[in-house]
Amino acid sequence: MSNSSYQERMQRKKAIIDERIAKATEERGVLILLKGNGKGKSSSAFGTMARSLGHGQKAAVVQFIKGKQQTGEQLFFAQHPRVDWHVMGHGFTWETQDQEQDRLAAQAAWQICQGLLQDPSYDILVFDEMSYMFKYHYLELEPVLKALQQRPKQQNVIITGRTMAEPLQQIADTISHVEVERHAFNLGVKAQAGIEF
Ligand code: ATP
Ligand code: MG
Repeated sequence: MSNSSYQERMQRKKAIIDERIAKATEERGVLILLKGNGKGKSSSAFGTMARSLGHGQKAAVVQFIKGKQQTGEQLFFAQHPRVDWHVMGHGFTWETQDQEQDRLAAQAAWQICQGLLQDPSYDILVFDEMSYMFKYHYLELEPVLKALQQRPKQQNVIITGRTMAEPLQQIADTISHVEVERHAFNLGVKAQAGIEF
């Protein structure tokens, strides 16, 4: 391709992008869903939270699944003065599978989320692995949808989890689907601190 036709093409592209930027004028918080079986959903959510904190914003995290290990993100961010970090008590782990106890823990975690969703001082909320609560019927969808829709206008919310309930997807602004192409685990590589947790 000649240099001049390359330049023409790039100018046309820029004009289209500039027009789209000019049209996006609404200023409000967004609901972001990060779903799929690939690696990178929770780490993307916490990466976005770091971005927000860098701008002096205030954040809260509610983790709906308690792993055996504390995650590096929890160890790092929980000390931050503008982060509130909550882990679902007793919670749902792959080991416990005590339905009644899990349901109660999910309800308690949801109570925390509800408070956060009514507090405009929080700029960004991460509800990590919340989607499983609907899959296993530990939480009802309706009140969650309502609280999300009634939250402060500028508040951003990120929900992660492999599968997302359809009604949640309908009210979301941004949905990213992380697919697996390959995962080291399937090559026999052991889960490691700093990568997996
Ligand atoms: P991460 O926390 O690394 O961003 P994630 O949130 O996308 O991952 P989850 O479904 O929450 O993924 O699973 C969390 C853990 O499982 C992480 O330790 C991650 O490395 C691992 N994991 C994610 N995807 C896969 C996969 N396809 N096969 C095996 N392990 C995986
Ligand atoms: Mg995750």
